[in-house]
Amino acid sequence: MPRNKEDCCSFCGRVGFTPETGPLIKANDHVMICRSCVEACQQIFQTQEEEKPVSGNAGGFADLLKKPLPKPAEIMAELDKYVVGQEETKKILSVAVHNHYKRLLKHGTESAKGVEKEFPDVEIEKSNVLLIGPTGSGKTLLAKTLARMLNVPFCITDATTLTEAGYVGEDVENIILRLLQAADFNLERAQVGIIYVDEIDKIAKKGENVSITRDVSGEGVQQALLKILEGTVANVPPKGGRKHPNQSYIQVDTTNILFICGGAFVGLDKIVQRRIGRHVLGFTADHSSVEKQKRLESSQVLKFTEPEDLIRYGLIPEFIGRLPVVTALEPLTKEELIRILTEPKNALTRQYEKLLAYEDVKLTFRKDSLETLAAKAVEKGTGARGLRAIIENMMTSIMFDLPSRGDIAECIVTPETVETGVPLLVKRKDIRKEA
Ligand code: ADP
Repeated sequence: MPRNKEDCCSFCGRVGFTPETGPLIKANDHVMICRSCVEACQQIFQTQEEEKPVSGNAGGFADLLKKPLPKPAEIMAELDKYVVGQEETKKILSVAVHNHYKRLLKHGTESAKGVEKEFPDVEIEKSNVLLIGPTGSGKTLLAKTLARMLNVPFCITDATTLTEAGYVGEDVENIILRLLQAADFNLERAQVGIIYVDEIDKIAKKGENVSITRDVSGEGVQQALLKILEGTVANVPPKGGRKHPNQSYIQVDTTNILFICGGAFVGLDKIVQRRIGRHVLGFTADHSSVEKQKRLESSQVLKFTEPEDLIRYGLIPEFIGRLPVVTALEPLTKEELIRILTEPKNALTRQYEKLLAYEDVKLTFRKDSLETLAAKAVEKGTGARGLRAIIENMMTSIMFDLPSRGDIAECIVTPETVETGVPLLVKRKDIRKEA
């Protein structure tokens, strides 16, 4: 290309062919662009591309409005399919979730005008939920099932990570970032999502006299969480390695995000007991029955939890105020654990039955073996979580041996198998002989 003395970039006006501008790209003799302007344009395109989903309007309310809001009884019926037991909690959650989404879907609509005229000053508060219950009793499962049913973005976060990091404010916003990620950075959808905050009891202040830094930080996290639980516009740093040159924060309104907080609250039962003046320990000859009685009583006692008990436990009153729906889950009984083993669509026993069916082996769990499994899990005290560990332990050698043997038609799990890992095996030829 012959170089012309007057050639200069039509955008920045710089003369071409310098190391900075490079050769000019000509549209015609009068319009041209230099390398640095092309690079600047690329950066603008990239930024817009990154921001697009964030400001996109698809999803969110529109998605929610497509289907009629499920009634509490319908929500409960759906929860029943996946969560065994916990009837009281399922009922309370169904109502809370229904009310939460009703509040945000009805607001400002034609059909709600009459009601709003009648109650002009009444503002329905957000019904964030606090689930109190032992580990493996289904707290996370409940929250996850709800989100899936309503088809809203969902994420699980852990309050303990907030305590560990020094910079509380930043971490709290990271909770929202998780939800944004779950919503593929669709801001509209994220703003009506559900966040499950696990281990919320771990950010309680310890003891009445708070002077140690860790305790203060627990309170600090509660303070920081307050705002996003109630509803604020949070400045969320968009992490993930991609640069946002012109926008360092994504602003997320948390007003319509439903927060479900869960925790085991070990020791809370004693606080409640002390308040209501009930004592559980009796003199019984059998140690295990005392244990059982203690467990039963403690789960029943937690149903009577009042805000003042939670304050004594170490939550600050303002924080408790942002979690108006409080419900206690019960430790799962042996019978419920047996149902968990067999009833849900993805039940553990069915998973193993399927795995062995690939080997053309029929896996049978005898009824009494299920009882032994459940009894072991109760002993472990980790609820349904323990079941998986116990079954996996038991099945390891079975799953190791069977694929190398082609002669087995059926593998029967008995109570002894639960203890020893050795199943009853029925050979193919044995079946043929019997036939
Ligand atoms: P946590 O109460 O500690 O949050 P999770 O909900 O994470 O317990 O439960 C752990 C696993 O145990 C779940 O993935 C689920 O498979 C099983 N589980 C726990 N509780 C129940 C329940 N009530 N019904 C069915 N499965 C359950």
